[in-house]
Amino acid sequence: MVLKAKDYKSDVKPIWCPGCGHYSVLNAITKAFSALEQAPESSVLVSGIGCSSRLPAYVNSYGFHGVHGRALPVAAGLKVARPELNVIALGGDGDGFSIGGNHFIHACRRNVNIVYVVMDNEVYGMTKGQASPTTPEHWDHSKLTPHGPEVRPFQPCAIALAAGASFIARGHSGDPNGLAKILYDAVQHPGFAFVQVLSQCVTFCPEQAQWKDIVHLEEVCTADPVAAANFLHGDDGFAKGVFYRNPRPVWPVTHEQQGSSDIRRGFAL
Ligand code: SF4
Ligand code: MG
Repeated sequence: MVLKAKDYKSDVKPIWCPGCGHYSVLNAITKAFSALEQAPESSVLVSGIGCSSRLPAYVNSYGFHGVHGRALPVAAGLKVARPELNVIALGGDGDGFSIGGNHFIHACRRNVNIVYVVMDNEVYGMTKGQASPTTPEHWDHSKLTPHGPEVRPFQPCAIALAAGASFIARGHSGDPNGLAKILYDAVQHPGFAFVQVLSQCVTFCPEQAQWKDIVHLEEVCTADPVAAANFLHGDDGFAKGVFYRNPRPVWPVTHEQQGSSDIRRGFAL
């Protein structure tokens, strides 16, 4: 029996602020699961800590709401132990790029066969609006950083590419249908699929409502890491779409895969 998107929602009512972008991400995930005809018991959502990390409780699947910044190692271990499961790690920008930043780099490098969705609102929402790794340099809304963080923001897609992710995309919470399509492709990708989602925090960053006017679709998907790097070098941070897709052996790599792999010594951004 084909389940509808609403059948993938659990009975737990989300407690996000009204208007939070994460509601749309939840809708996109359930739409993608429906389109994939995914049995609820064949998926596991693994999260860290933060507003967005509450999401597994709201989905009719298995879930693990874990430890701050540690969604990726838990998800990787799960995938290795139960490769038949569809494993999706998710969380926010603080959880994924600061506390869990090192795990992010190494999950990309290993090309673990999981999806990683980061709901990026450029702020620590749960702890009341402190600057995160993706906060704009001069964002001065937090009393802790009255002149802004004054450091350049983390570049998640470019870092994912340099670290070895084999699928890189960006979606927007204002476009749940487009995001569902990206997630549909990400789940089917054999390897580490990184999806950055611009998901607005209406409470601490109300200016993010403008994102809907500046986000633009880019049909640039390439399997060439140099072309992807060139694109990301000129990226304004508001392009959405699949930017890079280049399957390669997944971790743990078998001897057969090693024999067939196109061994690179790396490339410079
Ligand atoms: Fe969403 Fe921000 Fe509210 Fe957290 S604080 S639930 S991120 S709007
Ligand atoms: Mg955040």
